[in-house]
Amino acid sequence: MARITLNGRPIETADGALMIDVAKEAGIHIPHYCYHPALGNPGNCRMCLVEVQGAPKLQPACRLKAVDGMVVRTDSPAVQAAQAGALELHLVNHPLDCPVCDQSGECGLQDYYMTIGRYKSGVAEDKRHMAKRKPIGPHVMLDQERCLWCTRCTRFLANVVKTAELGIFGRGHGQVVDLAPGKVLDNPYSGNVVDICPVGALTDRDFRYKVRAWYLESVDSVCPGCSRGCGVQVHTSTKRPWHNEGRRVARLKPRYNPEVNGHWICDEGRYSYKTLDQDRLGKVLRLRPAPAGLSAVGTELSWDAAWKEIAGRAGELMADKGAGGLAVIASGALSNEDWRSFKKLFVDSWKVVQFLFAPEPDQVGPEDSLLRRKEKVPNLKGGEALGFGTEFRSMSWDALARSIEAGRIWGLYVVDRDVAGVWGPAAAGLLGRLDFVVFQGPFKGGTGDLAHYRLPSTAYVEEEGSFTNFEGRLQRYAKALAPLGAALPDWEIFEGILARHRAGKGEAL
Ligand code: SF4
Ligand code: SF4
Repeated sequence: MARITLNGRPIETADGALMIDVAKEAGIHIPHYCYHPALGNPGNCRMCLVEVQGAPKLQPACRLKAVDGMVVRTDSPAVQAAQAGALELHLVNHPLDCPVCDQSGECGLQDYYMTIGRYKSGVAEDKRHMAKRKPIGPHVMLDQERCLWCTRCTRFLANVVKTAELGIFGRGHGQVVDLAPGKVLDNPYSGNVVDICPVGALTDRDFRYKVRAWYLESVDSVCPGCSRGCGVQVHTSTKRPWHNEGRRVARLKPRYNPEVNGHWICDEGRYSYKTLDQDRLGKVLRLRPAPAGLSAVGTELSWDAAWKEIAGRAGELMADKGAGGLAVIASGALSNEDWRSFKKLFVDSWKVVQFLFAPEPDQVGPEDSLLRRKEKVPNLKGGEALGFGTEFRSMSWDALARSIEAGRIWGLYVVDRDVAGVWGPAAAGLLGRLDFVVFQGPFKGGTGDLAHYRLPSTAYVEEEGSFTNFEGRLQRYAKALAPLGAALPDWEIFEGILARHRAGKGEAL
Protein backbone atom coordinates (compact mmCIF):
# COMPACT_ATOMS: atom_id res chain seq x y z
CA MET A 1 0.00 0.00 0.00
CA ALA A 2 1.03 3.63 -0.54
CA ARG A 3 0.07 6.47 1.81
CA ILE A 4 -0.23 9.65 -0.25
CA THR A 5 -1.62 13.14 0.30
CA LEU A 6 -4.07 14.31 -2.35
CA ASN A 7 -5.26 17.92 -2.20
CA GLY A 8 -4.34 17.89 1.50
CA ARG A 9 -6.25 14.66 2.24
CA PRO A 10 -4.37 11.58 3.46
CA ILE A 11 -5.26 8.61 1.24
CA GLU A 12 -4.18 5.00 1.33
CA THR A 13 -4.05 3.27 -2.04
CA ALA A 14 -2.39 0.39 -3.86
CA ASP A 15 1.29 0.97 -4.53
CA GLY A 16 1.66 1.83 -8.23
CA ALA A 17 -2.02 2.71 -8.80
CA LEU A 18 -2.53 5.40 -11.45
CA MET A 19 -3.12 8.80 -9.86
CA ILE A 20 -6.06 9.53 -12.20
CA ASP A 21 -7.82 6.40 -10.84
CA VAL A 22 -6.83 7.11 -7.24
CA ALA A 23 -8.31 10.60 -7.52
CA LYS A 24 -11.51 9.27 -9.09
CA GLU A 25 -11.87 6.77 -6.28
CA ALA A 26 -11.49 9.67 -3.82
CA GLY A 27 -14.22 11.64 -5.63
CA ILE A 28 -11.82 14.04 -7.39
CA HIS A 29 -12.26 14.33 -11.15
CA ILE A 30 -9.09 15.08 -13.10
CA PRO A 31 -9.87 16.36 -16.65
CA HIS A 32 -8.75 14.02 -19.43
CA TYR A 33 -9.52 12.99 -23.00
CA CYS A 34 -7.04 10.33 -24.11
CA TYR A 35 -7.07 8.18 -20.96
CA HIS A 36 -9.70 5.43 -20.86
CA PRO A 37 -9.50 2.63 -18.29
CA ALA A 38 -10.01 -0.03 -20.95
CA LEU A 39 -7.81 1.56 -23.61
CA GLY A 40 -4.70 2.69 -21.81
CA ASN A 41 -2.92 5.96 -21.15
CA PRO A 42 -0.93 7.43 -24.03
CA GLY A 43 -0.75 10.76 -22.20
CA ASN A 44 -1.13 12.80 -25.38
CA CYS A 45 -3.99 15.15 -24.48
CA ARG A 46 -2.05 16.82 -21.60
CA MET A 47 -5.29 17.62 -19.79
CA CYS A 48 -4.59 15.63 -16.63
CA LEU A 49 -1.49 17.46 -15.44
CA VAL A 50 -1.08 17.59 -11.64
CA GLU A 51 1.50 19.01 -9.27
CA VAL A 52 3.74 16.62 -7.35
CA GLN A 53 5.72 18.02 -4.44
CA GLY A 54 9.42 17.86 -5.26
CA ALA A 55 8.95 17.21 -9.01
CA PRO A 56 10.52 19.82 -11.31
CA LYS A 57 7.39 20.14 -13.51
CA LEU A 58 3.74 19.07 -13.72
CA GLN A 59 3.04 15.38 -14.28
CA PRO A 60 0.24 13.66 -16.31
CA ALA A 61 -1.96 11.89 -13.74
CA CYS A 62 -2.79 9.12 -16.21
CA ARG A 63 0.86 8.01 -16.16
CA LEU A 64 1.76 8.94 -12.58
CA LYS A 65 1.99 5.95 -10.25
CA ALA A 66 1.22 6.31 -6.55
CA VAL A 67 4.32 5.95 -4.36
CA ASP A 68 4.38 5.99 -0.56
CA GLY A 69 4.78 9.55 0.78
CA MET A 70 3.74 11.28 -2.48
CA VAL A 71 2.08 14.71 -2.08
CA VAL A 72 -0.14 15.67 -5.03
CA ARG A 73 -2.35 18.67 -5.86
CA THR A 74 -4.94 18.62 -8.64
CA ASP A 75 -6.26 22.12 -7.95
CA SER A 76 -3.27 24.42 -7.57
CA PRO A 77 -3.01 27.62 -9.69
CA ALA A 78 -0.20 26.01 -11.74
CA VAL A 79 -2.39 22.97 -12.50
CA GLN A 80 -5.41 25.10 -13.41
CA ALA A 81 -3.30 27.27 -15.72
CA ALA A 82 -1.76 24.21 -17.43
CA GLN A 83 -5.13 22.52 -17.93
CA ALA A 84 -6.72 25.71 -19.28
CA GLY A 85 -3.72 26.10 -21.62
CA ALA A 86 -4.07 22.53 -22.91
CA LEU A 87 -7.77 23.10 -23.42
CA GLU A 88 -7.10 26.30 -25.35
CA LEU A 89 -4.75 24.38 -27.63
CA HIS A 90 -7.42 21.74 -28.27
CA LEU A 91 -9.89 24.46 -29.14
CA VAL A 92 -7.64 26.41 -31.53
CA ASN A 93 -9.05 24.62 -34.56
CA HIS A 94 -12.23 23.24 -33.06
CA PRO A 95 -15.27 24.58 -34.92
CA LEU A 96 -18.01 26.50 -33.09
CA ASP A 97 -20.55 23.83 -33.91
CA CYS A 98 -22.19 23.42 -30.50
CA PRO A 99 -25.64 24.67 -31.57
CA VAL A 100 -25.84 21.97 -34.26
CA CYS A 101 -23.54 19.30 -32.82
CA ASP A 102 -25.04 16.02 -31.61
CA GLN A 103 -22.49 15.79 -28.81
CA SER A 104 -23.75 19.03 -27.33
CA GLY A 105 -24.81 18.44 -23.73
CA GLU A 106 -22.46 15.47 -23.27
CA CYS A 107 -19.24 16.89 -24.76
CA GLY A 108 -15.87 16.85 -23.02
CA LEU A 109 -14.85 20.17 -24.59
CA GLN A 110 -18.02 21.95 -23.46
CA ASP A 111 -17.81 20.52 -19.95
CA TYR A 112 -14.16 21.43 -19.38
CA TYR A 113 -14.54 24.85 -20.97
CA MET A 114 -17.20 25.65 -18.39
CA THR A 115 -15.14 24.33 -15.46
CA ILE A 116 -11.49 25.08 -16.27
CA GLY A 117 -11.61 27.19 -19.48
CA ARG A 118 -13.57 30.42 -19.74
CA TYR A 119 -10.52 32.24 -21.12
CA LYS A 120 -10.68 35.03 -23.64
CA SER A 121 -9.77 33.61 -27.04
CA GLY A 122 -6.45 34.82 -28.41
CA VAL A 123 -6.99 33.22 -31.80
CA ALA A 124 -7.23 35.74 -34.62
CA GLU A 125 -6.62 33.37 -37.53
CA ASP A 126 -9.20 31.29 -39.39
CA LYS A 127 -9.80 27.80 -38.10
CA ARG A 128 -8.61 24.86 -40.13
CA HIS A 129 -11.27 23.28 -42.38
CA MET A 130 -11.59 19.57 -43.05
CA ALA A 131 -14.28 16.99 -43.91
CA LYS A 132 -17.44 17.82 -41.94
CA ARG A 133 -19.70 14.85 -42.60
CA LYS A 134 -17.94 11.79 -43.84
CA PRO A 135 -19.84 8.48 -43.53
CA ILE A 136 -17.13 6.02 -42.54
CA GLY A 137 -19.37 2.98 -42.03
CA PRO A 138 -23.02 1.97 -41.79
CA HIS A 139 -23.39 3.46 -38.31
CA VAL A 140 -20.79 6.18 -37.83
CA MET A 141 -20.30 9.68 -39.27
CA LEU A 142 -16.90 11.42 -38.99
CA ASP A 143 -16.37 15.16 -38.62
CA GLN A 144 -12.62 15.65 -38.92
CA GLU A 145 -12.71 19.28 -37.76
CA ARG A 146 -14.02 18.30 -34.34
CA CYS A 147 -11.36 15.65 -33.59
CA LEU A 148 -8.77 16.39 -30.93
CA TRP A 149 -6.58 13.33 -31.72
CA CYS A 150 -7.00 11.61 -28.40
CA THR A 151 -6.61 8.27 -30.29
CA ARG A 152 -9.30 6.50 -28.26
CA CYS A 153 -11.06 5.35 -31.44
CA THR A 154 -7.89 4.09 -33.10
CA ARG A 155 -6.80 2.25 -29.94
CA PHE A 156 -10.24 0.64 -29.55
CA LEU A 157 -10.24 -0.57 -33.14
CA ALA A 158 -6.61 -1.74 -33.12
CA ASN A 159 -6.49 -3.32 -29.66
CA VAL A 160 -10.03 -4.40 -28.73
CA VAL A 161 -11.73 -5.33 -32.03
CA LYS A 162 -8.37 -5.74 -33.82
CA THR A 163 -9.68 -4.43 -37.12
CA ALA A 164 -7.81 -1.06 -37.23
CA GLU A 165 -10.11 0.76 -39.63
CA LEU A 166 -9.20 4.23 -38.33
CA GLY A 167 -5.81 5.88 -38.02
CA ILE A 168 -4.25 9.29 -37.34
CA PHE A 169 -2.49 10.54 -40.47
CA GLY A 170 -0.13 13.49 -41.00
CA ARG A 171 1.65 15.59 -38.40
CA GLY A 172 1.23 18.97 -36.74
CA HIS A 173 -1.25 21.28 -38.47
CA GLY A 174 -1.99 18.58 -41.07
CA GLN A 175 -2.85 15.84 -38.54
CA VAL A 176 -6.18 14.16 -39.24
CA VAL A 177 -8.18 11.10 -38.19
CA ASP A 178 -9.37 9.07 -41.16
CA LEU A 179 -10.13 5.61 -42.50
CA ALA A 180 -7.10 3.48 -43.29
CA PRO A 181 -6.75 2.99 -47.07
CA GLY A 182 -9.31 0.52 -48.40
CA LYS A 183 -11.15 0.15 -45.07
CA VAL A 184 -14.74 0.81 -44.02
CA LEU A 185 -15.81 0.94 -40.36
CA ASP A 186 -18.29 -1.93 -40.46
CA ASN A 187 -17.10 -4.37 -37.79
CA PRO A 188 -19.69 -5.83 -35.33
CA TYR A 189 -18.63 -3.37 -32.59
CA SER A 190 -18.30 -0.14 -34.62
CA GLY A 191 -20.84 1.86 -32.59
CA ASN A 192 -18.57 1.89 -29.53
CA VAL A 193 -16.30 4.51 -31.13
CA VAL A 194 -19.18 6.99 -30.82
CA ASP A 195 -19.38 6.34 -27.07
CA ILE A 196 -15.68 6.76 -26.43
CA CYS A 197 -15.08 9.80 -28.65
CA PRO A 198 -15.04 12.61 -26.07
CA VAL A 199 -16.26 15.18 -28.62
CA GLY A 200 -18.61 15.24 -31.60
CA ALA A 201 -16.07 13.96 -34.14
CA LEU A 202 -17.68 10.52 -34.32
CA THR A 203 -21.48 10.57 -34.18
CA ASP A 204 -24.15 7.94 -34.61
CA ARG A 205 -25.78 8.13 -38.03
CA ASP A 206 -29.09 6.91 -36.67
CA PHE A 207 -29.17 9.27 -33.68
CA ARG A 208 -27.89 12.39 -35.51
CA TYR A 209 -30.29 15.32 -35.34
CA LYS A 210 -33.07 13.26 -33.75
CA VAL A 211 -33.12 14.51 -30.17
CA ARG A 212 -31.00 16.72 -27.91
CA ALA A 213 -29.13 14.82 -25.19
CA TRP A 214 -30.75 16.85 -22.40
CA TYR A 215 -34.26 15.72 -23.41
CA LEU A 216 -33.39 12.04 -22.92
CA GLU A 217 -34.56 9.92 -20.02
CA SER A 218 -32.38 6.94 -19.12
CA VAL A 219 -33.28 3.58 -17.60
CA ASP A 220 -30.88 0.76 -16.69
CA SER A 221 -31.60 -2.40 -18.60
CA VAL A 222 -30.10 -5.61 -20.01
CA CYS A 223 -29.73 -6.30 -23.72
CA PRO A 224 -31.84 -9.32 -24.71
CA GLY A 225 -29.95 -9.74 -28.00
CA CYS A 226 -28.00 -12.81 -26.90
CA SER A 227 -27.17 -14.91 -23.86
CA ARG A 228 -24.33 -12.53 -22.80
CA GLY A 229 -26.85 -10.05 -21.36
CA CYS A 230 -24.81 -6.86 -21.71
CA GLY A 231 -25.66 -3.96 -19.43
CA VAL A 232 -27.37 -1.16 -21.39
CA GLN A 233 -29.09 2.12 -20.78
CA VAL A 234 -32.34 2.68 -22.65
CA HIS A 235 -32.62 6.33 -23.70
CA THR A 236 -36.13 7.55 -24.46
CA SER A 237 -37.60 10.96 -25.10
CA THR A 238 -41.31 10.60 -24.63
CA LYS A 239 -42.03 13.98 -23.04
CA ARG A 240 -40.51 16.07 -25.85
CA PRO A 241 -41.39 15.76 -29.54
CA TRP A 242 -38.49 14.49 -31.62
CA HIS A 243 -37.88 13.14 -35.08
CA ASN A 244 -38.63 9.63 -33.97
CA GLU A 245 -39.86 8.01 -37.19
CA GLY A 246 -42.48 6.18 -35.14
CA ARG A 247 -39.98 4.96 -32.54
CA ARG A 248 -40.03 5.61 -28.83
CA VAL A 249 -36.47 4.55 -27.99
CA ALA A 250 -33.91 7.12 -29.15
CA ARG A 251 -30.80 4.98 -28.59
CA LEU A 252 -29.18 2.28 -26.46
CA LYS A 253 -25.87 2.96 -24.72
CA PRO A 254 -23.55 0.49 -22.99
CA ARG A 255 -23.79 0.36 -19.20
CA TYR A 256 -20.44 -0.47 -17.59
CA ASN A 257 -20.47 -3.93 -16.07
CA PRO A 258 -16.99 -5.33 -15.46
CA GLU A 259 -18.36 -8.87 -14.95
CA VAL A 260 -20.34 -9.06 -18.20
CA ASN A 261 -19.54 -6.59 -20.96
CA GLY A 262 -17.01 -4.11 -19.59
CA HIS A 263 -17.55 -0.83 -21.44
CA TRP A 264 -18.79 -2.27 -24.74
CA ILE A 265 -21.82 -3.64 -26.55
CA CYS A 266 -22.14 -5.05 -30.07
CA ASP A 267 -23.90 -3.28 -32.95
CA GLU A 268 -26.54 -6.00 -33.20
CA GLY A 269 -27.64 -5.28 -29.64
CA ARG A 270 -27.09 -1.51 -29.89
CA TYR A 271 -29.36 -1.04 -32.89
CA SER A 272 -32.01 -3.57 -31.89
CA TYR A 273 -34.17 -0.69 -30.63
CA LYS A 274 -34.88 0.37 -34.22
CA THR A 275 -37.38 -2.46 -34.72
CA LEU A 276 -38.87 -2.42 -31.21
CA ASP A 277 -41.99 -0.52 -32.29
CA GLN A 278 -42.38 -2.20 -35.68
CA ASP A 279 -45.07 -4.81 -36.40
CA ARG A 280 -46.22 -4.86 -32.80
CA LEU A 281 -49.28 -6.70 -31.55
CA GLY A 282 -51.60 -4.49 -29.52
CA LYS A 283 -54.99 -6.25 -29.47
CA VAL A 284 -56.19 -9.47 -27.90
CA LEU A 285 -57.79 -11.34 -30.80
CA ARG A 286 -59.76 -14.51 -31.51
CA LEU A 287 -58.80 -15.14 -35.12
CA ARG A 288 -60.63 -18.17 -36.41
CA PRO A 289 -63.96 -19.85 -35.64
CA ALA A 290 -62.62 -23.40 -35.45
CA PRO A 291 -62.92 -23.98 -31.69
CA ALA A 292 -66.37 -25.41 -30.99
CA GLY A 293 -68.89 -22.91 -29.72
CA LEU A 294 -66.93 -19.87 -30.86
CA SER A 295 -68.06 -18.10 -33.97
CA ALA A 296 -66.54 -14.71 -34.70
CA VAL A 297 -63.52 -14.19 -36.97
CA GLY A 298 -60.88 -11.64 -35.97
CA THR A 299 -62.82 -10.52 -32.91
CA GLU A 300 -61.19 -8.32 -30.30
CA LEU A 301 -61.53 -9.72 -26.78
CA SER A 302 -60.93 -8.38 -23.31
CA TRP A 303 -58.11 -10.14 -21.48
CA ASP A 304 -60.63 -11.68 -19.11
CA ALA A 305 -62.71 -13.11 -21.97
CA ALA A 306 -59.61 -14.44 -23.75
CA TRP A 307 -58.27 -16.08 -20.60
CA LYS A 308 -61.63 -17.73 -19.90
CA GLU A 309 -61.98 -19.01 -23.47
CA ILE A 310 -58.40 -20.30 -23.66
CA ALA A 311 -58.57 -21.98 -20.24
CA GLY A 312 -62.00 -23.47 -21.07
CA ARG A 313 -61.08 -24.70 -24.54
CA ALA A 314 -57.74 -26.18 -23.43
CA GLY A 315 -59.48 -27.82 -20.45
CA GLU A 316 -62.10 -29.45 -22.71
CA LEU A 317 -59.52 -30.75 -25.18
CA MET A 318 -57.24 -32.06 -22.43
CA ALA A 319 -60.16 -33.88 -20.81
CA ASP A 320 -61.17 -35.29 -24.19
CA LYS A 321 -57.80 -36.05 -25.82
CA GLY A 322 -55.23 -35.94 -23.03
CA ALA A 323 -52.52 -33.39 -22.16
CA GLY A 324 -49.98 -35.40 -24.19
CA GLY A 325 -51.39 -33.92 -27.39
CA LEU A 326 -50.64 -30.33 -26.44
CA ALA A 327 -47.19 -29.00 -27.42
CA VAL A 328 -45.65 -25.76 -26.18
CA ILE A 329 -42.99 -23.88 -28.12
CA ALA A 330 -41.18 -21.20 -26.16
CA SER A 331 -37.69 -19.77 -25.91
CA GLY A 332 -35.00 -18.20 -23.77
CA ALA A 333 -36.56 -14.81 -24.52
CA LEU A 334 -38.72 -15.31 -21.40
CA SER A 335 -37.64 -13.56 -18.20
CA ASN A 336 -37.16 -15.45 -14.94
CA GLU A 337 -40.53 -14.13 -13.78
CA ASP A 338 -42.13 -15.43 -17.00
CA TRP A 339 -40.47 -18.85 -16.63
CA ARG A 340 -41.92 -19.25 -13.11
CA SER A 341 -45.50 -18.62 -14.24
CA PHE A 342 -44.87 -20.65 -17.41
CA LYS A 343 -43.98 -23.65 -15.26
CA LYS A 344 -47.00 -23.14 -13.00
CA LEU A 345 -49.40 -23.14 -15.94
CA PHE A 346 -47.98 -25.70 -18.33
CA VAL A 347 -46.21 -28.18 -16.03
CA ASP A 348 -47.86 -27.97 -12.61
CA SER A 349 -51.42 -27.37 -13.80
CA TRP A 350 -51.87 -28.54 -17.40
CA LYS A 351 -49.28 -31.37 -17.12
CA VAL A 352 -47.91 -30.67 -20.60
CA VAL A 353 -45.05 -33.00 -21.58
CA GLN A 354 -44.11 -31.79 -25.06
CA PHE A 355 -41.94 -28.68 -25.02
CA LEU A 356 -39.64 -27.23 -27.64
CA PHE A 357 -37.11 -24.54 -26.62
CA ALA A 358 -34.24 -25.18 -29.06
CA PRO A 359 -32.85 -21.80 -30.14
CA GLU A 360 -32.15 -23.29 -33.57
CA PRO A 361 -32.89 -22.40 -36.25
CA ASP A 362 -34.59 -19.05 -35.75
CA GLN A 363 -32.75 -17.81 -32.63
CA VAL A 364 -29.09 -18.42 -33.42
CA GLY A 365 -26.52 -16.20 -35.11
CA PRO A 366 -22.87 -15.21 -35.25
CA GLU A 367 -20.64 -15.29 -32.17
CA ASP A 368 -17.08 -14.19 -31.37
CA SER A 369 -14.60 -14.11 -28.53
CA LEU A 370 -15.35 -10.52 -27.45
CA LEU A 371 -19.05 -10.45 -26.46
CA ARG A 372 -21.46 -11.93 -28.99
CA ARG A 373 -22.96 -15.33 -28.17
CA LYS A 374 -24.50 -17.77 -30.63
CA GLU A 375 -27.86 -18.03 -28.84
CA LYS A 376 -29.74 -14.82 -29.68
CA VAL A 377 -31.95 -15.00 -26.59
CA PRO A 378 -31.07 -13.75 -23.10
CA ASN A 379 -32.40 -16.36 -20.73
CA LEU A 380 -32.03 -20.03 -21.61
CA LYS A 381 -30.31 -20.42 -18.22
CA GLY A 382 -33.38 -19.10 -16.41
CA GLY A 383 -35.46 -21.86 -18.00
CA GLU A 384 -32.76 -24.39 -17.18
CA ALA A 385 -32.91 -23.37 -13.49
CA LEU A 386 -36.61 -24.30 -13.46
CA GLY A 387 -36.03 -27.69 -15.04
CA PHE A 388 -36.33 -26.77 -18.72
CA GLY A 389 -32.81 -27.91 -19.53
CA THR A 390 -30.95 -29.03 -22.59
CA GLU A 391 -33.19 -32.08 -23.10
CA PHE A 392 -35.97 -29.69 -24.11
CA ARG A 393 -33.63 -27.90 -26.45
CA SER A 394 -32.84 -31.10 -28.31
CA MET A 395 -36.49 -31.66 -29.31
CA SER A 396 -36.60 -31.19 -33.05
CA TRP A 397 -38.98 -29.13 -35.14
CA ASP A 398 -39.11 -31.98 -37.66
CA ALA A 399 -40.25 -34.46 -35.03
CA LEU A 400 -42.95 -32.06 -33.90
CA ALA A 401 -44.13 -31.57 -37.50
CA ARG A 402 -44.29 -35.34 -37.99
CA SER A 403 -46.31 -35.74 -34.77
CA ILE A 404 -48.80 -33.13 -36.00
CA GLU A 405 -49.08 -34.88 -39.38
CA ALA A 406 -49.63 -38.21 -37.62
CA GLY A 407 -52.47 -36.68 -35.56
CA ARG A 408 -50.69 -37.14 -32.23
CA ILE A 409 -50.83 -33.41 -31.48
CA TRP A 410 -54.12 -31.53 -31.16
CA GLY A 411 -52.90 -28.18 -29.88
CA LEU A 412 -49.96 -25.79 -29.95
CA TYR A 413 -49.14 -22.88 -27.63
CA VAL A 414 -46.42 -20.73 -29.20
CA VAL A 415 -44.62 -18.15 -27.07
CA ASP A 416 -42.71 -15.62 -29.19
CA ARG A 417 -41.32 -18.06 -31.78
CA ASP A 418 -41.42 -17.85 -35.55
CA VAL A 419 -43.11 -21.15 -36.38
CA ALA A 420 -44.05 -19.88 -39.85
CA GLY A 421 -40.41 -18.92 -40.46
CA VAL A 422 -39.11 -22.36 -39.44
CA TRP A 423 -41.69 -24.54 -41.19
CA GLY A 424 -42.10 -22.19 -44.15
CA PRO A 425 -45.10 -22.73 -46.42
CA ALA A 426 -45.86 -26.01 -44.60
CA ALA A 427 -46.73 -24.08 -41.40
CA ALA A 428 -50.24 -23.12 -42.53
CA GLY A 429 -51.09 -26.74 -43.35
CA LEU A 430 -49.64 -28.05 -40.11
CA LEU A 431 -51.35 -25.50 -37.86
CA GLY A 432 -54.56 -25.90 -39.85
CA ARG A 433 -54.80 -29.52 -38.63
CA LEU A 434 -54.90 -28.45 -34.99
CA ASP A 435 -57.95 -27.77 -32.80
CA PHE A 436 -56.21 -25.19 -30.66
CA VAL A 437 -53.41 -22.76 -31.54
CA VAL A 438 -52.39 -19.83 -29.34
CA PHE A 439 -49.72 -17.35 -30.35
CA GLN A 440 -48.35 -15.04 -27.67
CA GLY A 441 -45.65 -12.47 -28.38
CA PRO A 442 -44.79 -8.81 -28.90
CA PHE A 443 -44.48 -8.95 -32.71
CA LYS A 444 -46.87 -9.92 -35.50
CA GLY A 445 -44.80 -12.24 -37.68
CA GLY A 446 -46.38 -14.96 -39.77
CA THR A 447 -47.30 -17.27 -36.91
CA GLY A 448 -49.79 -14.97 -35.21
CA ASP A 449 -51.99 -14.96 -38.31
CA LEU A 450 -52.30 -18.76 -38.21
CA ALA A 451 -53.45 -18.96 -34.57
CA HIS A 452 -56.91 -19.16 -33.05
CA TYR A 453 -55.89 -16.69 -30.35
CA ARG A 454 -53.31 -13.94 -30.72
CA LEU A 455 -52.14 -12.46 -27.44
CA PRO A 456 -49.96 -9.31 -27.31
CA SER A 457 -47.08 -9.41 -24.83
CA THR A 458 -44.73 -6.61 -23.80
CA ALA A 459 -41.25 -5.99 -25.17
CA TYR A 460 -38.47 -5.98 -22.53
CA VAL A 461 -38.42 -2.16 -22.37
CA GLU A 462 -42.09 -2.17 -21.30
CA GLU A 463 -41.70 -4.41 -18.26
CA GLU A 464 -39.36 -5.04 -15.38
CA GLY A 465 -37.79 -8.39 -14.69
CA SER A 466 -34.57 -10.36 -14.70
CA PHE A 467 -32.52 -12.55 -17.02
CA THR A 468 -29.87 -15.12 -16.12
CA ASN A 469 -27.02 -14.97 -18.59
CA PHE A 470 -25.00 -17.88 -20.02
CA GLU A 471 -22.63 -17.76 -17.04
CA GLY A 472 -25.50 -17.96 -14.54
CA ARG A 473 -25.39 -14.25 -13.61
CA LEU A 474 -28.81 -12.93 -12.62
CA GLN A 475 -29.41 -9.37 -13.82
CA ARG A 476 -32.43 -7.13 -13.32
CA TYR A 477 -33.82 -4.78 -15.95
CA ALA A 478 -36.15 -1.83 -15.39
CA LYS A 479 -39.21 -0.60 -17.25
CA ALA A 480 -38.54 2.30 -19.64
CA LEU A 481 -41.85 2.68 -21.49
CA ALA A 482 -45.58 2.02 -21.16
CA PRO A 483 -46.77 -1.11 -23.01
CA LEU A 484 -48.24 -0.70 -26.49
CA GLY A 485 -51.99 -1.34 -26.72
CA ALA A 486 -53.25 -4.09 -24.45
CA ALA A 487 -49.87 -5.87 -24.19
CA LEU A 488 -49.08 -7.55 -20.85
CA PRO A 489 -45.90 -9.22 -19.57
CA ASP A 490 -45.83 -12.93 -20.47
CA TRP A 491 -46.01 -13.97 -16.81
CA GLU A 492 -49.24 -12.01 -16.35
CA ILE A 493 -50.82 -13.74 -19.36
CA PHE A 494 -49.85 -17.19 -18.03
CA GLU A 495 -51.21 -16.27 -14.58
CA GLY A 496 -54.48 -15.01 -16.12
CA ILE A 497 -55.08 -18.30 -17.93
CA LEU A 498 -54.04 -20.29 -14.87
CA ALA A 499 -56.48 -18.41 -12.62
CA ARG A 500 -59.40 -19.03 -15.05
CA HIS A 501 -58.40 -22.67 -15.42
CA ARG A 502 -58.41 -23.13 -11.65
CA ALA A 503 -61.69 -21.23 -11.28
CA GLY A 504 -63.24 -23.50 -13.95
CA LYS A 505 -62.18 -26.53 -11.94
CA GLY A 506 -63.44 -25.04 -8.71
CA GLU A 507 -59.91 -24.72 -7.28
CA ALA A 508 -58.99 -21.85 -4.99
CA LEU A 509 -57.26 -19.01 -6.87
S1 SF4 B 1 -12.31 10.92 -33.58
FE1 SF4 B 1 -12.82 11.21 -31.41
S2 SF4 B 1 -12.01 9.36 -30.40
FE2 SF4 B 1 -11.04 9.48 -32.41
S3 SF4 B 1 -9.12 10.58 -32.07
FE3 SF4 B 1 -10.64 12.10 -32.66
S4 SF4 B 1 -11.48 12.87 -30.73
FE4 SF4 B 1 -10.43 10.95 -30.26
S1 SF4 C 1 -23.23 -9.14 -27.14
FE1 SF4 C 1 -25.31 -9.92 -26.95
S2 SF4 C 1 -26.12 -9.05 -25.05
FE2 SF4 C 1 -24.27 -7.88 -25.64
S3 SF4 C 1 -25.04 -6.14 -26.83
FE3 SF4 C 1 -24.55 -7.76 -28.28
S4 SF4 C 1 -26.49 -8.84 -28.55
FE4 SF4 C 1 -26.70 -7.63 -26.70
